[in-house]
Order: sequence, then C-alpha cells, then structure tokens
Amino acid sequence: MLEKKLRYLKGVGPKKETLFNKLGVYTIKDLLYFFPFRYEDRRNFKKIKDLKEEETVLIKGKVVVRNLKSIPYFRRKRKVKSVFEAVISDGTGKVRCVWFNQAYLADLIVSGKEIIVYGKPSLDSGEFKFNSPEYELVSSQGLVNMGKIVGVYSSGSNFTQKFMRKIIDSVLYSYKSTIDDGLPFYIRNEKKFPNIAKSIESMHFPASWQEAQSSRERFIFEELFYSQILVYLRKARHRRQPGTPFNVRNDILDRIKSNLSFKLTPSQEEVVSQISNDLKNPYPMHRLLQGDVGCGKTIVAAFAMGICVDNKQQTAFMVPTEVLAYQHKETLENIFKGMGFSIEVITSSLTKAKITQIYTKLRQGKIDIIVGTHSLIQEDVKFKKLGLVVIDEQHKFGVAQRALLPKKAALSPHCLVMSATPIPRSLALSIYGDLDLSVIKEMPRGRIPPKTSWVKEKKREWVYEFLRGKLGGGRQVYIIYPVIEESQIQDLKSLEIMFDHIRDSFADFKVGMFHGRLGAKEKLDIIKDFREKNIDILVATTVVEVGVNIENATVMVVENPERFGLSQLHQLRGRIQRSNYQPYFIVLSKDRLSELSLRRLKVISEQSSGFEIAEEDLKLRGPGDFFGSMQHGLPKLKIANPLKDLDLLKQARTFAYKTIKSDPNLSLPQHRCIKKHLNFWLKGISESENQPLFDS
Ligand code: ADP
Ligand code: MG
Repeated sequence: MLEKKLRYLKGVGPKKETLFNKLGVYTIKDLLYFFPFRYEDRRNFKKIKDLKEEETVLIKGKVVVRNLKSIPYFRRKRKVKSVFEAVISDGTGKVRCVWFNQAYLADLIVSGKEIIVYGKPSLDSGEFKFNSPEYELVSSQGLVNMGKIVGVYSSGSNFTQKFMRKIIDSVLYSYKSTIDDGLPFYIRNEKKFPNIAKSIESMHFPASWQEAQSSRERFIFEELFYSQILVYLRKARHRRQPGTPFNVRNDILDRIKSNLSFKLTPSQEEVVSQISNDLKNPYPMHRLLQGDVGCGKTIVAAFAMGICVDNKQQTAFMVPTEVLAYQHKETLENIFKGMGFSIEVITSSLTKAKITQIYTKLRQGKIDIIVGTHSLIQEDVKFKKLGLVVIDEQHKFGVAQRALLPKKAALSPHCLVMSATPIPRSLALSIYGDLDLSVIKEMPRGRIPPKTSWVKEKKREWVYEFLRGKLGGGRQVYIIYPVIEESQIQDLKSLEIMFDHIRDSFADFKVGMFHGRLGAKEKLDIIKDFREKNIDILVATTVVEVGVNIENATVMVVENPERFGLSQLHQLRGRIQRSNYQPYFIVLSKDRLSELSLRRLKVISEQSSGFEIAEEDLKLRGPGDFFGSMQHGLPKLKIANPLKDLDLLKQARTFAYKTIKSDPNLSLPQHRCIKKHLNFWLKGISESENQPLFDS
C-alpha cells in the first residue's frame, strides 16, 4: 500500500506528482520518509499588547473586521491585483493582517472565526501590521501548522510549507498503521527506539525538542545501518564470486625486493602480506590501498602484479594521465628487471597501428602488464587471461569507469584500488563500503617534511632570490600556475605570459612549460627533459598534480594558491617530497584575500599530514561536497552526516556486521523486515553489477 504512487492521493494531481518526483518522492512511503530539515517552535502565543517590531511571533484571536479590495486595472502597481485585510483581536489588543492576491481568503477568513497567525509584525503609522503572515484557522480537527513544533521541508519553491505539512499529516493519518518497521525489534529494543509509526510521526510533528532529536537519531541510525548492511551483503557477494587463487611464491617476492634500492617500510610490508593473502583466496580481492602522497603505493601494487604474472596471468594498471602511465612503466621495468616481464603502455595518442598491435598481443597473452589511461576500458581491449586490475588515483575515475575494467575477465579478477585521500578509518570503511582497507601509515625513512612558506605578492622578488639559491645548489623547481579550464585559450595565455616572465627573470636557467593541451609526445619529452635535468624550472599547470615523480625537483611555488582546494594543494606538495633533500613549498598569494582563502592557506602552511588536511577540507567544504565525490556506489545519505554521526555509524556498523554474519541471506524471521526494506534504501543507485545480493 505504501508503494502507491502519489497521484492516488487526494490533492495531488499529475502536475504536483511531477514536482514531487523532482524531489525524489515517488511513493507514499517516500513521502513519509521526506523529513523536515529543521523545525520551528510554534507553541508559545504572544499577546497582541506585547508585540514587538521584527520579532517572529504567534498570536491567536478572533477575526473582527475584514475587507477585500480589488485593485482597478490601471492602478495595479507591482502586479498587486487584490488586497485582503483582516483585523484580529485577542482581548488585549487588535492587529491588522494583510495578504496580497489571495482573494479566496475572503471566503475562509470570516468574521468571528478563531485564527492563529505566525509572522513578523512591522510598524505602519504607529500600528502593528502583519504582511502575508502564515495562518491557520482553529478547527475541531486539530492544528497542523500552529501551536506545536513544526517541521520545515526542503521542498524548494514547488510546495508551500503549509501544503507539505497538510499532505504529510493526512498521509500519516491514513497510512500510519501500515508502515513496516525497517529495524528488527531486538535492535530497536536495545537502542530504545520507539516503533516506526511513532518515530515517523515524531520526525514530522514532534511533541518536544527532545522527541525531534531522538527520532532523528533513530533515522540517522537506520540510514547508516542500511548502508552498512549493503556493504556487508556486497562483501559476502564478492566472496561467492569465483575467482582465481594465486600461488604466492616467496621466490618472486624476494626477487622483487632484491631489485629495490631501498627496504620496504613496516606498513608496506604489512600491506604486501595482506595483499598476498587476498590473492591466495578462491574469490577475488577487493582492496583499497590508502596512503598519503609519496608514501610508496606503487611498489606495493607491483608486488601484486609480480605474483599475478608469476601465475601466468595478465595485469591491467589504470592511471589517470598519460605521463603517469609512462612513468609507471619505467618504474615497473626497474622493479621487474631481469624477470622477463613484458610491459606495455596503451593511451589514445598511440598510432592506430600500434594500438591494433597491442590489442592483438593482449589477446594472445603476450603482454604481462598493460599500463594505460581510459584507453584500457575501450570495448576492443580484450585479454587472454586478466588476473589482476590495479587502479591508481581512484578518485580521478567515476564509479562506472572503475567497474568496467574487471568485466574484461572471464573470472572476476583480483582488484586493488589506490587512493591518496586519507580519511579516518571508520569513515573510509563506510564510504568505500565493500572494499577491504589497507593503509600505509608512514613515509619512507629519511624523508624530510616540507617547509611551507606563505608569501605575499609584494615579496615576489624575495621568492625569486630564494629560487636562484636553490637552483644554484643543483635542485629543480616547479612553478604551478592555476589554469582551471585547460581548454580555455584565455587561461593558457596567462600561463604563457608567466612562462615568458619566468624566462626573463631566470635568464641563467633553462625553463620549460607543461600543460594539458600539449601533444602527447611533447608532454613526454618535457617530463623526460625535466627528469634528466635539461630543464631547471618547469612552469606547469596542475597536470603535474597526479603522481609525477621527479626526485630532484624539491622546490615548488604555487601562484594564486587561493584558486586551489586544500586537497589539491596537498597533492601538489606531495610532488616535492620524493627524496632526501629538504623540500620547500611556497604559496605566493595576492596581498588581499577572502576569508575562506585565508583559512585554507593557513591550514596548508601549518599542517603537513594528509589526515589533518583532509579533515580541515571536510570542515571547509562540508560533507555533502566532500563525500559526493568519493562515495562508492552507496545511496546518497539524506540525513546522516558520517563525520558528525561517527558514533552512530560505528554502532550501525557493528549491528549490521552481526546481522549479516549470523544470517547472510536475511532469511531468519527477525530479519525479513530488513530484506523487505532494502529495496527502499537501494532506490537511487543501480546495482550496477547486476548480480543478486542474496543466494537464490
Ligand atoms: P605514491 O604513494 O604517492 O604513489 P610512489 O609510489 O610514487 O608514491 O612513491 C614515491 C617515491 O618513494 C618513489 O620514488 C619510490 O621509489 C619511493 N619509495 C617507495 N617506497 C620507499 C621506501 N620504502 N623507501 C624509500 N623510498 C621509497
Ligand atoms: Mg602514486
């Protein structure tokens, strides 16, 4: 019954239904779950004699005088066609209320009726007056908008608050007894939540602030509980998928290690062993590897690749940029030196002939490791036996894009996704949901934390002097220029002007320019020149942000840093922490900045840990924005804020874990309600994998 479409409700025609659909409200149940985003306390009446100017108040009285004026056509100012006035008296005084263009009120607000109005009075020639106040007539059916705490809905301009309250009130009245509880009794009991009907009622029409608070808590819990149920169901589904267990030979691990010029950090060791264990399983690995920029994720992934190739299967390594693809190829060739692996790069800028050749070799199994950009997910890319998928800088890809690559294997391949956005573990677990999580906690030994300076434009010369000193000492420098839209010729112009200016100011040094619009070969050549020290200063856009690894470039200047987000600044700074030289990060800002920019630059100059920065970023950007960009195929959270509700999240997670552990198919009687409600919570995301969450 609750699945009934809204058009079957009295007062909702096709037009209103469409508007509701725009709000994501399709059924009666959706409407009941369309909760207010805040409340107004409308319980205390004020006497008319105590009115104050510009104070929002509630008054109750009798209609004593009323008057409807129709404005003649030629005198209609600002589209006012009619004015309806009513004078209300509560025994302590009288007050005038005025409504415009609502002539029908004359039939509703009649003399002698008891009425409540809510609004802000203003003074008009010494007398108080309400302009278009909210009102409700006192009737025997009880009040909906007045005399209580009322909800305020984010219904945009589509519906008035009054309409929303009225329709929800009437739906509640008719359907209350038919709502199934989405939480099993034992959980409700343990958490001391009231039953569903009561909880929904308190969400819309709470009797007290306390009730509003506790019902909200229940639904935040419920939302988080269902997101975690989904996580565990997906996890269980992964386990049911057949995969290929790899044989992990110590010999292969040792050979890789002997090719490295450094020892793995304890975290790296630990993660390599977690991954090795995953790879032995007869079901596919789904692991997220998190670690701050520069902590050494690539090498960890390389171990997985080595194991894969040792098991005569192929690895696909997807990266966001072409430069990164070639860089990784080179890194991998060093790591696997002498092991006879065939490693190739595929990107869209290769010649057609070369691409066709790669396709053929991939199908024949003649390539062991293919590193590629989006080109890897093209239809024509087919493998002989794809055993492992690695995705670098996963936030640069959409959920759908990430899902495509594994589909290129007959049996689900093992998957490793890597991310440099460090967020608290409990949050990561719920956001990335069905992925197992590994974290590299420390930086390689000997790394020197960067020194960050925030310098104002008027001290530009000082910065240049500093750069000359460092360049003289043999280091290389990045100068980052904000080009927001690389397709905008206008924006690139300013980069070129900057480039000329830097060339003039640093006549003794070689200056290069690097941006996204350069041809593929040019890009690679410039990076090569920079790596081989044929370029001392690289004037670049943020295309260098992802992954570029040039150890000797330890100084970076960011121009107009106010145009970058915190995470982006942090990523950029990661570029220069790749060696044992002291890194210097200089943000060169305008002399005057907005409040928000000031705060960002303060954070970046004071904090160097990715964790702290991510948290500050969360605070500055707000959770919706932040999570929107990373949520991993979970329904959009409507009322929960995982950051603020971390405690509830942990509890919800524990309950969900126990539930699925004890009853993976949700077939016990006490869990049937969860199974039943799951579809409701799944709305809005497509179960893209199109596989049932349950055993048939
Ligand atoms: P990210 O985690 O940002 O992808 P990379 O994998 O690119 O970082 O590694 C950054 C640099 O650190 C590389 O030059 C890499 O060779 C080096 N590196 C990785 N692990 C270690 C280690 N344990 N000791 C020393 N250097 C390391
Ligand atoms: Mg990397």
